[in-house]
Amino acid sequence: MKSISIIGSGPSGFYTAYHLLKKSPIPLNITLWEKFPVPFGLSRYGVAPDHPEVKNCEETFTQFANAYTIPSGSNNLMHKFQFIGNVQIDSEKLFKLRSIQDCVILSYGCNNDKKLGIPGENDTLGVVSSRQFVNWYNSYPENACATPEQWKGSDFWKNVKNVAIIGNGNVALDICRVLLTSNIKQYWQNTDINQASTEAIKHVSNVKIIGRRGYEQSKFTNKEFRELWELEKYGIKGNIDSKYLSNVDESKLDRAGTRRLEMVKEYMKPFDQRTKKNYKKFKPPSTFTKFWEFDYMKTPVKINKDARNNRISSITLAINKVNEMNKFVIDNSKPCIDYPIDFLITSLGYKGVNIDELGCQKHLNNIKFAGDHLATNREGQVLSSVDNKPIPGLFASGWIKTGSKGVIVSTMIDSFTVGDEVIKYLQCSATSNQQASIIDLQNTVLDSTNYKPTTWFDWLKLDAYEKKLGNPRRKIINIADMLKIIGK
Ligand SMILES: Cc1cc2nc3c(=O)[nH]c(=O)nc-3n(C[C@H](O)[C@H](O)[C@H](O)COP(=O)(O)OP(=O)(O)OC[C@H]3O[C@@H](n4cnc5c(N)ncnc54)[C@H](O)[C@@H]3O)c2cc1C
Repeated sequence: MKSISIIGSGPSGFYTAYHLLKKSPIPLNITLWEKFPVPFGLSRYGVAPDHPEVKNCEETFTQFANAYTIPSGSNNLMHKFQFIGNVQIDSEKLFKLRSIQDCVILSYGCNNDKKLGIPGENDTLGVVSSRQFVNWYNSYPENACATPEQWKGSDFWKNVKNVAIIGNGNVALDICRVLLTSNIKQYWQNTDINQASTEAIKHVSNVKIIGRRGYEQSKFTNKEFRELWELEKYGIKGNIDSKYLSNVDESKLDRAGTRRLEMVKEYMKPFDQRTKKNYKKFKPPSTFTKFWEFDYMKTPVKINKDARNNRISSITLAINKVNEMNKFVIDNSKPCIDYPIDFLITSLGYKGVNIDELGCQKHLNNIKFAGDHLATNREGQVLSSVDNKPIPGLFASGWIKTGSKGVIVSTMIDSFTVGDEVIKYLQCSATSNQQASIIDLQNTVLDSTNYKPTTWFDWLKLDAYEKKLGNPRRKIINIADMLKIIGK
C-alpha cells in the first residue's frame, strides 16, 4: 500500500483523489486535508448561488467519499480514503507530510488577489476584490470570524447606488448579477446566498463593467452573458455602446463570437423589434429600474476618495488605444475621465499563495513559485527553487498549478492528468509508508493538542444540519459554530 496526502478539498483535490482511487493498480491510502471543517472549496464558496447545477460535482465527491472513507466505507475495497478538515497545512506540516507519505499533492487553489497596483486601491473604504465580495455573499468562514469589515454593514450600503467592476470575466458577471437582482426575492429564495449581503446591497442600481481591452477580447462566456441580458424581465437593462461594436470584424469571429454578437445586437433592440424568438422569451416591464453596462478600452489609474470619511468617490480612467504591435496601451493624447462611483470591485483573478510562506518557516520545502504565485511543475511534478528539478513525491493539481482560470470541468481534466502522472511515479518509486491510521497521521503532523480536526462523518452531520435550516441549505458562517454543531 502507498500513502498519499492531498492538500485542499476543492474540486481539484477531490477529482485527483477520485481518479487515483479509480485507476491505481497499487492499493492507496489517501488523506485529503482541508483548512476548513467543511469540504468542496470554491464549489461551495465561489460558484454563484444561482448556479446550483455547477455544484453537482459535490454529489460525485460525496458518493465516492462515502464509499471509500475508513472505517465505515466498504472494507472490501483495496483503497482507503480519509478527510481531515479544520487543519491548515503550512510549510512545516507539508515538510512532515513529505517525510511520512509516498506522495503529497498540492491542490489548495488560489487564495489571494491579483491587484491593479494603483493609488487608493488598498486604503479606501468601498474598494474590494472580487474574492472578498464573492466570499461575503457565499458565507465564507474566514470573513465571518473576523470583526465585520465596515463595508459589509447595511449602513455602509444605504448610499451605494453606482458600482464599478474592473475586469470582465465570468466572476465579474456573477457579481453584476448578484448586485442587481438582490432585491428580487423569488430570484434568490431557493439558493444558499448569504441573506444579510443581498439585503444590504439592494439599493445598487447601476453597474459598470470596465475592461482594458475591446469587446472582442471580453473574457466572459456566452452562457453568463445571456443570463445578464435575460435579467431584463425583472426591469434590469443592459447596454454596450455601439462604438465598441462598430470595428468588430465579423468574418474573423468563431461560432461563439458570432453568437455573442448576435445576442448583443438583438438584445439592444426594443423587444418587439427583435427578429429571433430566442431573444423574445420574457417580455420586460415597460420601465427599467436597474442598469448594467460594459465599458471597454479603459485603464484605471487612480481611486479618489472623500477625505471626510475615506470612502471612494470616483475612479480615474485613462483611455486606451491599440498600438502598432496590436497591444492595448494608454492613449496619452486623450485626457483621463472620472466616473463617480460608490463602490469598486476589482475582478482581476485569484492569486496563489506560496505554501512556504505559511507557518513558522522552520522547514522550507523550496518549492519554486512563479507567475501569479503558482507552483511551477513538470507534468504536475513540482519543481525545486534550488535546482529547478522535480521534487520527488511532490505534485500539484488544479488552480494552484494552472492559475485561476478554468471551470470545474477543466479543473477535473487537469486533476485526472496529474493523477495519471502520480500513478506512474508510484509505480517506479520503491518506498512505501504505510500510514493507515488517522491517529498516526494526525499525531505526526499536528504538533499540539489545540487542533480540532474534523472527519468526513463530521461534515455529513453539518451538511444535514445546514440542509434542515433552509432550501437547499443555510450555510453556517462561523467556524466555532460549525464545531459546536459537530460536537467538537
Ligand atoms: C467566483 C467564482 C465563480 C466560479 N463559478 C464557476 C462556475 O459557475 N462553473 C464552473 O465550472 N466553475 C466556476 N468557477 C471555477 C471553479 O471554482 C474552479 O475551477 C475550481 O474550484 C478550482 O478548484 P481547486 O480545487 O483548484 O481550488 P479551490 O476550489 O479553491 O479549492 C482549494 C481548497 O484548498 C483549501 N485550502 C487552501 N489552503 C489550504 C491549506 N494551506 N491547507 C489545507 N487546505 C487548504 C481551500 O479551503 C479549498 O477548499 C468559479 C470560480 C470562482 C472564483
